[in-house]
Amino acid sequence: MLFDVKQLFEGSVTSAPVSTTVDTATLSLPHVKKATASGVFSNHAGVITIDASVTVDIDTVCDRCLTQVQRRYQLPVRHTLVRKLQSEDTLSDEYLEVEGDSIDLDELFGTEIVLGLPNKILCRDDCKGLCPKCGCNRNEHECGCVLKETDPRLAALKQLLDK
Ligand SMILES: [Zn+2]
Ligand SMILES: [Zn+2]
Repeated sequence: MLFDVKQLFEGSVTSAPVSTTVDTATLSLPHVKKATASGVFSNHAGVITIDASVTVDIDTVCDRCLTQVQRRYQLPVRHTLVRKLQSEDTLSDEYLEVEGDSIDLDELFGTEIVLGLPNKILCRDDCKGLCPKCGCNRNEHECGCVLKETDPRLAALKQLLDK
């Protein structure tokens, strides 16, 4: 969805609320089920800012034990909008360059989702994961499997000693 920022830059409006459903189809994040964003664009003495929050609902499996995980994330979005400059200078992440008179809200909020969600989602911080030997969920029961850590260096040393 395109959002017109012309009047904000011209100063004829000083604030413009925004509330939208973010199109996440292009993000290649299949675990994102729904994303909405709301906030406000403001013009304070010629400085245009956006202060918004993206609510993301995810439905995925724990990275360690494969249990279903459904969670909601709130991602803050704060930027200062500037007109796109011709110079090659790269601006910091604080700034959002605007080309023309509108910004693509799906692109703006989509980027925040990609950057803001954790790479690995766990059912809980201390998830014990699946047993590599028997495959049981070690959060649910102790299978008692003995997991030998074979260090290749120690194995080599043992071979030498055995001779
Ligand atoms: Zn887990
Ligand atoms: Zn086991």
